[in-house]
Amino acid sequence: MPLRLYHHAGGMYREDGKVVCQKCGAELDDNLLSADPCLIQSTSVIYHDGLYWFINVSGLHAELCIAKNIIGQIQYLKIRCADKATANKLHDLVIRSVEEEGAINISGLYSVSDELFNFIENNRDKIIFEE
Ligand SMILES: [Zn+2]
Repeated sequence: MPLRLYHHAGGMYREDGKVVCQKCGAELDDNLLSADPCLIQSTSVIYHDGLYWFINVSGLHAELCIAKNIIGQIQYLKIRCADKATANKLHDLVIRSVEEEGAINISGLYSVSDELFNFIENNRDKIIFEE
């Protein structure tokens, strides 16, 4: 089961060895994420099969990122599509995910939509992750 983990918008403090979001009081994990969204709209990361899924937008370019870890030295997997149609559809869904939360000209991290996640999961024979 994929797990959607949310970033938190406010500051954070440490209490009894836990890291807590100042805005909503959620306890954050080692990646400063939690299963509950913050009070302020924030982006999320999907955690599935030991991999973190998110979108990185920079310089008008949106990149789907699948990484083994998201702190320290981030280890990205290469994503390869077996055919052009799959690559085009994947690109469209990445852009649509970005537009749901912001815009391609606003750099930063964006969430992978459920539609994008499901498309990849249903086409894993054509969408290959490589180390
Ligand atoms: Zn919060």
